Amino acid sequence: MTLRPYYVGAHVSASGGVDQAPLNAGRIGANAFALFTRNQRRWEAPPLSARTIAAFRENCERLGFGPQQILPHDSYLINLGHPDTEALARSRGAFVEEMRRCHQLGLRYLNFHPGSHLKQIDPDDCLTRIAESLDLAHEAVPEVIAVIECTAGQGTNLGYRFEHLAAILERVRDRSRVAVCLDTCHLFAAGYDLRNAEACAATFAEFDRIVGFGHLRGMHLNDSKTGLGSRVDRHQSLGQGEIGLAVFEYIMQDGRFRGIPLVLETIDSSLWAEEIQLLRRFAAGATAIPGAGH
Ligand SMILES: [Zn+2]
Ligand SMILES: [Zn+2]
Repeated sequence: MTLRPYYVGAHVSASGGVDQAPLNAGRIGANAFALFTRNQRRWEAPPLSARTIAAFRENCERLGFGPQQILPHDSYLINLGHPDTEALARSRGAFVEEMRRCHQLGLRYLNFHPGSHLKQIDPDDCLTRIAESLDLAHEAVPEVIAVIECTAGQGTNLGYRFEHLAAILERVRDRSRVAVCLDTCHLFAAGYDLRNAEACAATFAEFDRIVGFGHLRGMHLNDSKTGLGSRVDRHQSLGQGEIGLAVFEYIMQDGRFRGIPLVLETIDSSLWAEEIQLLRRFAAGATAIPGAGH
């Protein structure tokens, strides 16, 4: 049996066209990447041209990026659990459009933040709405898997407890088309400790018990500027924040994280190539703290 490789990369720029994203990923030595397939801060997006789609597919193929190595992220404006009917419809429409773009590009996943109750509906009803939004998206667009990201729990955002992720997974009709993504910064800000190997083991055991590693399709690797349980989402470069390097070493030495995109969203893009190298050294057996392997 051959081990699946570690896929490591960053959320790269797609400015100038989505076809630029694989090139940007290639330049930093990545074998995974994330991207926005449209301007993430606007509702309207021009359709992808046939030429851009062909160039994206060609660049991915030439640089060896298969769909299992790419984790597109949806717009920040979308709230699939919106309490207001009209606003919910707008978000659902935009999400379907994003799924369609992924499908056109030959991508398998679409990563999204679950949604916010805005203090207007019960959090549990909000989780149900999110699941219903995914059902509608699944009906509208084939194949693409909706990948729910855990959140820091800032404001009224849901998804900061493993139980929230599990609830959405359970309520979606086509379970083959939902999965989850864990963000180390969000986990930590939400109160899941990751500062040493023991804490990582406990956090990921809890994840496995409540959600299950079988549903994990991606990771965002970020250190955190804010403390454990702060519920504030502020990314930091690896080893420069409150979490430290132990979790990244842990992930790169635990086979459960092989074969899925591991994506940096750290704040200094000039460090990405180095951060990728550091992660690869961890995978090769280097330790974060000399003499302190687990
Ligand atoms: Zn993230
Ligand atoms: Zn974040």
